[in-house]
Amino acid sequence: MKTLLFSLLHGAGITKLSAWWFRRRTIFLCYHGVTECPQRSPEDPKGLHVNARRFARHLDFLQSHYRVIALRDYLQAQREGRPLPAYSVVLTFDDGFRNFLTVAAPMLAARKMPATVFLITDRAGEESDRQLRRDWTAEDDRRYLSWKDVRLLQETQGFEFGSHTCSHPGLLTLSAVDSRHELQHSYNDLVNHLAIENPSLSYPKGQYSTLLAEAARQVGYACALTTDRGPNELDHDLFTLGRTLIGDFDDEAAFAVRVSGLRWSLVKLFGFLWPSSAVPQVPQTKQIRDPFPIVILKSARFTRVPGLRSPRLTDDCLPEKIHPHS
Ligand SMILES: [Zn+2]
Repeated sequence: MKTLLFSLLHGAGITKLSAWWFRRRTIFLCYHGVTECPQRSPEDPKGLHVNARRFARHLDFLQSHYRVIALRDYLQAQREGRPLPAYSVVLTFDDGFRNFLTVAAPMLAARKMPATVFLITDRAGEESDRQLRRDWTAEDDRRYLSWKDVRLLQETQGFEFGSHTCSHPGLLTLSAVDSRHELQHSYNDLVNHLAIENPSLSYPKGQYSTLLAEAARQVGYACALTTDRGPNELDHDLFTLGRTLIGDFDDEAAFAVRVSGLRWSLVKLFGFLWPSSAVPQVPQTKQIRDPFPIVILKSARFTRVPGLRSPRLTDDCLPEKIHPHS
């Protein structure tokens, strides 16, 4: 049903209209892995790893209709108050799967497209600095980039790397002390291993709050990315930047709908027209005296509470729905 709707919207040119409408905003895309596996693995029912041929079609579409810029370019333009080219897109990859090295990076490099990878820094440290192997194996969809892999990608191809915390917890489920540890130690790991200043952050599972955003700012991160889907204005708050999740189910029409911002507009419209269906009841929540608010997640569904910003509930790209490991 959704596939048909997306095809109709794309075929009718609505995606072009939406892309034009949002041309002065910057769309951030959030991938996880890219795989050479010809069929979707039973271990990946949500399509976390995009098939390489489909990924190539995504990149070709971007090359024809958008301008892929580096995250650092967006940040610099925001600092300088300088407009970006119309139809700018930033590519990001969460979790740091090893197939970024063996599949995604060569495809991006061939098109001279920049990208930022957000590492779970404990995983990078656990991977041995084995002899580098550049051809894909199925293991690359489960394993992570080692620091040696990361340095190679950084030095030879210019890819950017940021933090996805140390261990990939839902930050809103942690105590203040543990949240701070995740933010601070992964920051230190990146600075020590890669000699980068002010790395960027991606909130695991899309969980964040205004207080967590402030903590990330205090640690020294340059910015922090959510999985809320909206396009970003040039003056958007740097610690709540929105991204659009992309998975293996996204054919060209679905991809065009998401990149154009149309999918986000439709979710907002339906949420406005049918608010009761768009925003289910709030599960039990509480705030404690810790600097960070804590949410008790009784299910994958949760909503806004005072002082918190959370992903919208009906979003079918809610990280827990696309994959428990977003
Ligand atoms: Zn993740």
